[in-house]
Amino acid sequence: MAPDDAVRRHEGATRLATAECVNIERNLEATELTCATAHAVSLLRAARLARSAKPFLARGGFKRERCAGCRLLPSHCTCALRPNVPTLSGVCLLMADIEPLKPSNTGWLIADVVADTFAFGWARTETDPALLALLRDPQWQPYVVFPGEYVSPERVVHSVQSYSAADGVVGKRPLFILLDATWAEARKMFRKSPYLDHLPVLSLQPDQVSQYRLRRSRRNDHFCTSEVAALCLNLAGEHRAEQTLEAYLDVFTHHYLQARNQLPIAWDDAAHQRLRELTAMPAPAG
Ligand SMILES: [Zn+2]
Repeated sequence: MAPDDAVRRHEGATRLATAECVNIERNLEATELTCATAHAVSLLRAARLARSAKPFLARGGFKRERCAGCRLLPSHCTCALRPNVPTLSGVCLLMADIEPLKPSNTGWLIADVVADTFAFGWARTETDPALLALLRDPQWQPYVVFPGEYVSPERVVHSVQSYSAADGVVGKRPLFILLDATWAEARKMFRKSPYLDHLPVLSLQPDQVSQYRLRRSRRNDHFCTSEVAALCLNLAGEHRAEQTLEAYLDVFTHHYLQARNQLPIAWDDAAHQRLRELTAMPAPAG
């Protein structure tokens, strides 16, 4: 690999933990305060909306009624496609203030797929006691997903401990802490969250990133939060959940863009077929 290439790939990796998904818009609105699906991200969004002093105005996006379960227009709803995959891993989203309000935020998709998804709004001056309790919970091994170059080498890990450890000792369940924010916000969150300081930092490596890109035929450097979560599930050996999350993101992106462009859904395209195949598979043994 040429040095320039290595640097570029490394830069791509450093953006992994935080990069925003394509199509993120500031088309925020405060029209739905009830949630058809109560999961960590939908509840955080509802709480954040309730705190808003005034409604956000959509800019360039659709302003019509949205489904409370998926944030899309009812005509383009993805709720019937929500997958159900058993996962051992958990995901803890630390979300920048505005993040839960974005209709295109993909942390929502993680919460749809990974049952044990936790979401907390991040603030420099206060920390939710439930977050601290989660990080202390002995069933979990938390990993902060962040570029290793920003921390001392002894904190950096590149792999995830096996849950089914040798010698009959059951390991801890991996808990992936994702900073769901712009890169600038995420660096600040990482620096100013002392409760993360003692945790291992899972740094995604350039070869993992490039393999992922090849498989996904990705052409740009930007990864959204659900793709980072899929990579983490891969490292945890949870390949079905990983693939399901990827297929679900593809389906969601299609519905989102078709809604924005007022076009019909291609229900039989490759992404829908893939998601159907994955969700029809029997649950893995054990
Ligand atoms: Zn829906």
